[in-house]
Amino acid sequence: MPFQIFQSEARSILSPVSGFLIQAGFTHSLTPARNCTFGCSYCYVPTMRVQAGLRPDDWNHWGHHTTFKTNAAQLLAKSLRSGQVIYCSPLTDPYQPAEATQRLMPAILECLAAAAHPPAAFVIQTRGPLILRDIPLLVAAAKRTRLRVSFSVTTNREDVRRIFEPHCAPVEERWQTIKALRSAGIAVFATLAPLLPCDPEPFLARALAETAGPVIADPFHVRETKRSGATTRAAAIEICNHHGWTEWLEPSFQIGILSQMSRLAAAQRRALGYGPNGFGLLAHADIPGEIQPGT
Ligand code: SF4
Repeated sequence: MPFQIFQSEARSILSPVSGFLIQAGFTHSLTPARNCTFGCSYCYVPTMRVQAGLRPDDWNHWGHHTTFKTNAAQLLAKSLRSGQVIYCSPLTDPYQPAEATQRLMPAILECLAAAAHPPAAFVIQTRGPLILRDIPLLVAAAKRTRLRVSFSVTTNREDVRRIFEPHCAPVEERWQTIKALRSAGIAVFATLAPLLPCDPEPFLARALAETAGPVIADPFHVRETKRSGATTRAAAIEICNHHGWTEWLEPSFQIGILSQMSRLAAAQRRALGYGPNGFGLLAHADIPGEIQPGT
């Protein structure tokens, strides 16, 4: 079924954050579209329903359509202030496939580069190799603000990736995207989130090899440890049950995997961050080789 793409004008574009993101040190989020046609089986966004600004058709048909906020850049230009730490985006992927034609991100990046009062940091959370289209604009923005890319790689197993996120890029293409961003001087993180069934040791080794800063990880969110709020979508839980991967939903197993990965990272004098502290590194950790604002 082809994805449907809609457009609308938003009343505002920067939202003050709460919960996990405020604990991680962010002040605002920027969500350029409602719904996301990557449609990942585990996506927590549709479980938030109206709290995520969604409408019933969004959470009932997650990934089938998306609505772009066409005036995002104009609103952003009026909203930027120094000191803001912006996360783009907790509720959609700014480089979902339809961004190829809708082109909201180039205008947003131009806005950052031209801002009289650029934010302290601007973090782009994505799993879309389409971001490579905007490298020159990312470089220009990185000269004005601490621009970082948190690039999601969820497993080292292509068979697993295809089952949980069939509309996303293959694993190897994502590593190549990280490599290209890093070559351009963009501060890029490998964000292993959510942590799908994988081979932890070679997966982490690749993440360490392809990046220069901390690696971020986050296991499936489950009700056992997160009593309320966003959680893993039922479709991913059904996949785990069907394929015998239920241990990846168990908090004790998750902690064991994170501990194993942390030890492996520490052995290479690198950090593995998770939880709010881990995501806080996205805005605040220094990355060797990154473009510095003011240069
Ligand atoms: S890319 Fe992110 S926002 Fe989009 S469906 Fe997947 S997890 Fe959800």
